[in-house]
Amino acid sequence: MSGTYRATGVTLMAHKYRGTGRVLTFFTRERGKVEAVAQGVGKPGSSLAPAADLFALSELFFAEGRNLHRLTQARVIEGFEDLRKRPVALGYAGFWAELLAKATEPGEPMPETFDEFVEGLGLLAGGYDPLPVVATGAWRLLLRLGVGPDMDNCARCGRPAPAATVFVAAEGSVVCPDCFTDANGVSETSVPIRPPLRSLASTVCEMPLARINRVRAQPSLWEDLLRVARLQVRFHLGLDLKADEYLRQMRAG
Ligand SMILES: [Zn+2]
Repeated sequence: MSGTYRATGVTLMAHKYRGTGRVLTFFTRERGKVEAVAQGVGKPGSSLAPAADLFALSELFFAEGRNLHRLTQARVIEGFEDLRKRPVALGYAGFWAELLAKATEPGEPMPETFDEFVEGLGLLAGGYDPLPVVATGAWRLLLRLGVGPDMDNCARCGRPAPAATVFVAAEGSVVCPDCFTDANGVSETSVPIRPPLRSLASTVCEMPLARINRVRAQPSLWEDLLRVARLQVRFHLGLDLKADEYLRQMRAG
């Protein structure tokens, strides 16, 4: 178990490790999530430092270790520096990165998701409205992980959903008005669904990411779509993302 390999990957997270080292979490095209130690990144002139910057897309060389792999060489292909000039886009990118870091498994490549993420970072750095891009990315990731919200059938009676329903986070599905008898009504963990939102949910499954900003939809509709995705992450992936708080504040402000 002491091979070396190369991969193309984006830096999702970085944590300090033994002085000037970092433990880096990458999302790679070839191997899915890779966690690796990068030694001496905090030292001036470190050749690995540029690849340790969040969202950097790099060609990476690793040595396999018993637990953590070790980053031995790196060459940045695209740094997406313009993202740093756009705090809102940066916040959304942070949510997407944390979601990938926590919801995907090491050694399980998801090349479509990888390509979409890289394309999405380019769009965000280029000034696209971040909300539709990241809502779409999150929604498609949930589908690929097999935890896509069911917008078509009532979770309780199984009948095809009528025009107006309520998405209930605990069910991971819509519930029809006949069955939605919850004492508290619509709450923080449910989202009313009307036809425009349901049609947006099917649009984002098919539309190329670069054309998503041409979809005519109210910002509040995108907010609701992302909210359903975030609830699904919490209830059905069991993840409490730090970046979720940022998005909550975005919505409030
Ligand atoms: Zn029902």
